[in-house]
Amino acid sequence: VGHMNVSLEDLMNSTIEKLFENLTSKIELGGSWRPKNCISRHKLAIIIPFRDRENHLNVLLSLLHNMLPRQLLDYRIYVVEQIGNDTFNKAQLMNAGFLEASKQNDFHCYIFHDVDLLPKDDRNLYTCSNQPKHLSVAIDEMKYKLNYLYLVGGVLNIRKEHFLALNGYSNLYWGWGAEDDDMACRMFFSGLRITRPPITIARYKTIKHIKRKPSGLYKR
Ligand code: UDP
Ligand code: MN
Repeated sequence: VGHMNVSLEDLMNSTIEKLFENLTSKIELGGSWRPKNCISRHKLAIIIPFRDRENHLNVLLSLLHNMLPRQLLDYRIYVVEQIGNDTFNKAQLMNAGFLEASKQNDFHCYIFHDVDLLPKDDRNLYTCSNQPKHLSVAIDEMKYKLNYLYLVGGVLNIRKEHFLALNGYSNLYWGWGAEDDDMACRMFFSGLRITRPPITIARYKTIKHIKRKPSGLYKR
């Protein structure tokens, strides 16, 4: 449908029943879908690192499960949750998600997806691509501008063989920040190129939340 009119207020005030209306009969148990009249070129796993943001999660899941079938993708969504109250480690969650998902199916590519980024345009294709593809190019919080060229945080699409060659994310980044820049360095030194869809299409709305304090520079 192109640009999607995402009303954050409506979505956040919705009930779970409303958010998942029409989806329960369509989406398979375990959060997967694939087209019935054709075979998708690729199999895709979406990995969402998660803790304690259930309302964000419900809104994102509802949007993705509405949008991705329109793109005729063969996909499954994995939510990877960190238990307890220890320091969050997003990178470890994403690595764990990759490993667990790859046990279940031979996915061609993986999309690592922040729980609070809502796609605004369904022409932003979640299909696998040859080079790593950074999908969250323009987000409202950043005035719809790309902050820096090697940014790969937010929503990132990467092929399985590339993720393996890069040895995934570093497990060493505790607390907020820098695991994504570390990943960009890995890509750079491996000769991979970060690609992006057009900025007019790769647009996201962010769900507001209390910002976490960045870890100290030296800790990072
Ligand atoms: N996250 C989460 N719970 C937390 C912290 C982080 O689920 O307590 C996940 C979530 O997917 C979020 C992502 O990690 O979108 C990035 O963290 P955060 O949103 O705090 O960072 P920001 O990009 O807003 O600075
Ligand atoms: Mn956030």
